[in-house]
Amino acid sequence: DQDVSEYKKSLAIRVSGFDVPRPVRTFEDCGFSAELMKAIAKQAYEKPTPIQCQALPIVLSGRDVIGIAKTGSGKTASFVLPMIVHIMDQPELGKEEGPIGVVCAPTRELAHQIYLEAKKFAKAHGIRVSAVYGGMSKLDQFKELKAGCEIVVATPGRLIDMIKMKALTMLRATYLVLDEADRMFDLGFEPQIRSIVGQIRPDRQTLLFSATMPHKVEKLAREILTDPVRITVGEVG
Ligand code: ADP
Ligand code: MG
Repeated sequence: DQDVSEYKKSLAIRVSGFDVPRPVRTFEDCGFSAELMKAIAKQAYEKPTPIQCQALPIVLSGRDVIGIAKTGSGKTASFVLPMIVHIMDQPELGKEEGPIGVVCAPTRELAHQIYLEAKKFAKAHGIRVSAVYGGMSKLDQFKELKAGCEIVVATPGRLIDMIKMKALTMLRATYLVLDEADRMFDLGFEPQIRSIVGQIRPDRQTLLFSATMPHKVEKLAREILTDPVRITVGEVG
């Protein structure tokens, strides 16, 4: 407790929005399944990082989130763990196919890191994760997506390519994460992001993470998030 609050002081976490759920202190507070708790223990994650303490209960409650924080604060688990819970909570979905969780990241390296983190926790419940980014054979990716997955982690350009090739549809998607949104904009992915978001049902849960909030990112956030909670960690420009 003591060191979490010390950390918070030094990083100045601010949370704003209506009816914001209280932060958790431990992973036990999150109500995760025994399987997921085991997977967390295996990572030697003793307790949630400060941003995870704030974000986990908010994301688990189904709210949209704008997370503004620099790298290294543990953002990945704060959207990956609730994504597993979200997927486990879905009813049987009949004949519909395609991912339920969709994560977009600016580069293949970042997409790959998120993919690895998601796989560690998805395994606990037999959830399938696919990575979709440039530099891998399109045909192999097409085949993998055709075989089915519940989570796709992708760079925006290659995801659009795969949608055009009908390797997957967004019909089942209800949980969308835009990670490092400012970098995706810097790399010119705004049209691809807008196209992807436009294909996902509007009653989805949407999470947007960014180190900075330039006007264009703020504008997108206003357009695509519903009643978001804003979590700001540290001094951010
Ligand atoms: P960010 O996306 O904010 O840059 P990451 O999600 O990549 O941060 O996490 C940074 C590092 O911290 C990773 O190596 C990750 O495995 C580790 N990490 C995340 N959550 C915890 C935790 N609760 N306890 C210990 N280490 C953690
Ligand atoms: Mg990150």
